[in-house]
Amino acid sequence: MSASRVLFWHRRDLRLADNLGIQAAVEISPAVTGVYVLDPALIHPPQSLPPMAPARLWFLLESLIELQQRWRAAGSRLLILEGDPVQVLPPLAERLAAEAVVWNRDVEPYSRERDRQVAKRLQADGRKVVVDWDQLLIPPELLKTGAGDPYRVYGPFLRNWRGKVQAQQPITIEAPSGLVDLHADLVPDGDPMAALRYSHGFQGTEICPCRPGESAALEQLTCFADGPLSGYEPDRNFPSVVGTSYLSAALSLGTLSPRQAWCAAQQGRDHARSDEQRTAIAVWEQELGWREFYQQALFHFPELADGPYREQWRRFPWENNEAWFSSWREGMTGMPIIDAAMRQLNESGWMHNRCRMIVASFLVKDLICDWRWGERAFMELEVDGDLAANNGGWQWSASSGMDPKPLRIFNPATQATKFDADGDYIRRWLPELRHVNTKDLLTGEIGGLERRGYPEPLINHKTQQALFKSLYATIRS
Ligand code: FAD
Repeated sequence: MSASRVLFWHRRDLRLADNLGIQAAVEISPAVTGVYVLDPALIHPPQSLPPMAPARLWFLLESLIELQQRWRAAGSRLLILEGDPVQVLPPLAERLAAEAVVWNRDVEPYSRERDRQVAKRLQADGRKVVVDWDQLLIPPELLKTGAGDPYRVYGPFLRNWRGKVQAQQPITIEAPSGLVDLHADLVPDGDPMAALRYSHGFQGTEICPCRPGESAALEQLTCFADGPLSGYEPDRNFPSVVGTSYLSAALSLGTLSPRQAWCAAQQGRDHARSDEQRTAIAVWEQELGWREFYQQALFHFPELADGPYREQWRRFPWENNEAWFSSWREGMTGMPIIDAAMRQLNESGWMHNRCRMIVASFLVKDLICDWRWGERAFMELEVDGDLAANNGGWQWSASSGMDPKPLRIFNPATQATKFDADGDYIRRWLPELRHVNTKDLLTGEIGGLERRGYPEPLINHKTQQALFKSLYATIRS
């Protein structure tokens, strides 16, 4: 009797180890074939949606290449196909005579609708569909307030989430080996990745701090856990310090699982030698908590993807000056900390969290530009562009989100002085200003001759802050 066959569909879980969906597939049968579908709707979507950032496309493709090798080493194979998964997967399952198709669930509205349609087609053909939660430590349905509602506020969410994670003591699962390849004849003609690999257009492959692939993600996690983790608080605040994990793309595309990250934090805690180190680790765990908070929020409130959570922000009279927006996007506003951060994003595909908060506040509250413009620009540039985290970060910065604090305005000069006191970060990304003295670099008050072609500031922070507040007053009532 031949073994039953199972198809495992990779999406945002580009690894073999600690993959709950693969574990579920192997429990059905060792004859598992993997598939990844390059979906044009995600890579080159219609104009209304942001195209995938070149940096993210690079990360995706390089991670897939390693994943293919891992499938081979485990004894089976990963097919990489191109097209609409709703059209591609049912005939593939038919050709493989797969008894079941297995995947890990996603929180994004597009993916959920796509998955619903794929499942419907497969089930209509008489196939079993098995789905699991893998990209979150705690499934969103299991986290509810005392009244049974989804969480809208991070603090109470974090307390419940942390208690549940600790009660579960997540463990990581070895990658499967001894898989059975029943489909040597199914290698598709041509390689749909080849063209994309040479045309993604991302120039920053050497300087992007997020490294693609499962092995690099584990190496980065180990390096972080053995070093910066114990000083995460306060180092995470300083963009010129290597103080964070750079694992955002790995967690977003799943070359690393949240359980692997959590377990590394627990091991760090076991070896901590002081209360400061234990606090630093707890703060990193809270950041993993923010990641899960925004994902469960998007799961329960998919309308977040379409605009402000707080209704009155739909009426905000944005100025939306396109020339200002372009200057912001290119890192040419004349405010050094803003321009350094935007150049870091443009060149390396990644930006430090402190700087994400500063540039977001500047776009919304100094340039008075609709935050959705910034949200889209980030998705077009970020290696870790993630709908839930990005939307959450922008709504937090714009004050339009779930966060109860109504108005938060960052003064870029004060932020630079506090978090880049020696100007190292600014000088790294704005080499044309290396000669400028630190005080002027931080405040942006640079004399005409010293500027040497660097633009004059677009705006005056105090004036714009007053204007923003007066506009905000019009929507408060
Ligand atoms: P670490 O500090 O090492 O944190 C560990 C992990 O926790 C991160 O890799 C990430 O998965 C998660 N995390 C940390 N902070 C946050 C946060 N505030 N919200 C959600 N998850 C968090 N993060 C993304 O992954 N993708 C995005 O598209 C994204 N867009 C953002 C936009 C704005 C306007 C803001 C303010 C923040 C955004 N963030 C986003 C959150 C945060 O800036 C990045 O996760 C972080 O800078 C990644 O660096 P790291 O991996 O070294 O993080």
